[in-house]
Amino acid sequence: MTDQNHPDTGTARPLGGLKIDLGTNVGSPLGGIPTIDGAPAATTPLAGSPTTEAPGGAPTETKVLIIGSGPAGLTAAIYAARANLEPVVIAGSAPGGQLMLTSEIENYPGFPEGIDGPELMRRFREQAERFGTRLFDLDVDRVDLSGRPFHAWARGKEFVGQSVILATGASALWLNLESEQRLRGRGVSACATCDGFFFRDREIAVVGGGDSAMEEANYLTKFASKVHLLHRRDGFRASKIMIDRAYDNPKIEVHTNTEVAEVLGEDKVEALRLRDARTGQERTIPMEGLFIAIGHRPNTEVFRDWLPTDEKGYLVPHHHTASRIHGVFIAGDVADHRYRQAVTAAGDGARAAIDAERWLESEGIAEHATQTAW
Ligand code: NAP
Repeated sequence: MTDQNHPDTGTARPLGGLKIDLGTNVGSPLGGIPTIDGAPAATTPLAGSPTTEAPGGAPTETKVLIIGSGPAGLTAAIYAARANLEPVVIAGSAPGGQLMLTSEIENYPGFPEGIDGPELMRRFREQAERFGTRLFDLDVDRVDLSGRPFHAWARGKEFVGQSVILATGASALWLNLESEQRLRGRGVSACATCDGFFFRDREIAVVGGGDSAMEEANYLTKFASKVHLLHRRDGFRASKIMIDRAYDNPKIEVHTNTEVAEVLGEDKVEALRLRDARTGQERTIPMEGLFIAIGHRPNTEVFRDWLPTDEKGYLVPHHHTASRIHGVFIAGDVADHRYRQAVTAAGDGARAAIDAERWLESEGIAEHATQTAW
């Protein structure tokens, strides 16, 4: 699960100045994804009791060190904690992952009425803490996976794990236009959930043709007077139900074969220069906000010296959730660009915790017979 920059805090800022530190990782959300390199932030702090300590001091040691606090990391924590492995989670400064930037989730089993992403992650965290998981809301800067025990450093604090589960998710992608980056936080965002509120009665645009773009466009119609959905092709990646929902929404206007050439405005978004992808013809339309929903990149930078990644930068598990380094396991969107669902990430977290426990047991580090705890 996106990258992340963040909305800073969720404190409502007057749109007048449109100083919206919109995020980043999100796009990152469960970007919130825990952020590894500067990432972003979650809008709503997770409830519970984030364990944050002053940097430095004695290393924090554990049998299972989990990096990442989205559905994968926190499910791994729940399983490891119930197996008496006393896990430690380095949760990122924007804990909770991409779901922190998601509005209503309708497809997570067990919630027939739907549930807000931040609320779901609050419950994950509460459940992990209930069984004794310690969480640190810090970003990992560096790891040493050369041998057991493994080491990680987060903002000056050292962590030592007999095993490690990597569950850092993925972050939002950007168009990478100079004007887009300059106006990030000033009307350009990758997180509708975080920033939609600021665009009440405004005319805004969403870029993308996948489920994220459809979902964000629909969500933003709760606030905006009109939402323009801009997609560079005439075919969509989104599921049919999501496309239909967008076309059926009277506040959404769909523009296919449309690229954003430039975001116009000095201190805030004022207009978009759009280009017809077939003819190259350009036009400028007034716009007060732009949401980017074009996919994600995996948060794997700090692991790249240690583990192989695929052509898209995702980690590649070696056998089930095990990496090619004995004792290092992989879970969730950091290795998954196919499914990328909260429920599949959570399932991966459970698998990784079970694999880690069995490995610790085989190494004589964990006691046998915790399997009844699953
Ligand atoms: P996605 O499916 O990869 O779609 C990304 C979209 O952005 C594509 O339409 C792509 O265009 C466009 N795009 C990529 N780079 C672009 C660029 N530089 N400029 C303009 N457009 C660009 O990503 P996603 O929508 O984030 O979805 C990711 C996964 O999460 C999917 O499996 C999706 O089903 C799932 N998801 C599910 C839900 C839900 O069920 N509620 C909600 C959100 C996401 P092209 O098509 O031309 O490549």
